[in-house]
Amino acid sequence: MHIPTSSLYDQHIQKKNKFSFGFVFLFIASVGLNIFLLFSDKESNVVSLPQDVEAVSQIAVEVEVPQPAAIIKPVSFTVSPEKAFVEKTTLDGKAIHSLNFKIRNSLNFTVCKMITRENGCAALSAHIGRLMVWFMDIKKSMRNGDSIDVVYQQLEGPEQFKILKLSYKSQLFGKTFEAYYFDEFDQGNGGYFDSAGQEIAQRIVEAQSPIRHYIEITSLPGDFRKGIGGHSGTDFKAEVGTPIYSGFAGKVTRTNWNVRANGYCVEVDHPKLGIKTLYLHLSRVKVKRGQTIQAGQQIAESGNTGRTFAPHLHYEIQSRKNKKTIYNPFTFKHHKSYTRSIPPQHQQDFQQAINRYNSVTKES
Ligand SMILES: [Zn+2]
Repeated sequence: MHIPTSSLYDQHIQKKNKFSFGFVFLFIASVGLNIFLLFSDKESNVVSLPQDVEAVSQIAVEVEVPQPAAIIKPVSFTVSPEKAFVEKTTLDGKAIHSLNFKIRNSLNFTVCKMITRENGCAALSAHIGRLMVWFMDIKKSMRNGDSIDVVYQQLEGPEQFKILKLSYKSQLFGKTFEAYYFDEFDQGNGGYFDSAGQEIAQRIVEAQSPIRHYIEITSLPGDFRKGIGGHSGTDFKAEVGTPIYSGFAGKVTRTNWNVRANGYCVEVDHPKLGIKTLYLHLSRVKVKRGQTIQAGQQIAESGNTGRTFAPHLHYEIQSRKNKKTIYNPFTFKHHKSYTRSIPPQHQQDFQQAINRYNSVTKES
């Protein structure tokens, strides 16, 4: 299945392109914009931004151009699908699968050599990519021969997969990154944790968070000046109608501009912090232009409006001086963030879960 990547383009379309002559035009416009930005914008005060995850699903439809040639040279694929596909077994009555493979050319390319497009290779590699984004810049830091163990379940819905365990052995970093799914605590609000029980994904402290209840972060900001695949916001996957807050005091400067791309949306100015915050794809806007906002005030409800493929909040922090300067919420100095850890009374259950996942993984 091809995962639409329309939200990848929402910022480009919003800022540079008011026409709509179809996807081909948008794609060309986007490429042109990126080339323009690559050569024209020399600003240096941009924080180092992690890899954009939505790029992964874009790679899914363009396997020929997934990786910088200087980093990963194309080689022929050597692991046969039979060998890589370990076995089918069950966990809690549900079928689980395990893949063990080495990266060839790109994550998506490799996964699609083992399970077909019809079986959702693009979606599975997108899921892996979403997790990997917390470990490394997957465009720059993956190497041919890095090995991956992934244990997952196939789901009925549009998500298609749920990863239970991911283990990534990186040659560049000389270490193995691990993530284990666990949800038997915190009111079933699951997440991915390392083997010591520390959460992989970061969270913004509740008082400052644009959204307090979400399923997962599916995309972090990529530096959209540097090429195709950039993304200027952080995407929080969440059910339609989830309350959206302004994390900081400020004033509403715009609502519902370029609705076709952004959907219902809000922009709040925060002069004291030198930023503007943007909230896109909303179902409902609860503030008006010119309105003064308190820190932590609800301003909207999340939705699935505009160019988006699934309900989510696109949250963006822009510099007031230059709107092309985008901040990652997890490195932005005014946003406090943290990670959860498995509480002591659940540690034993967590270790058992790890053991169950590991028991279905085999070395190839
Ligand atoms: Zn987004």
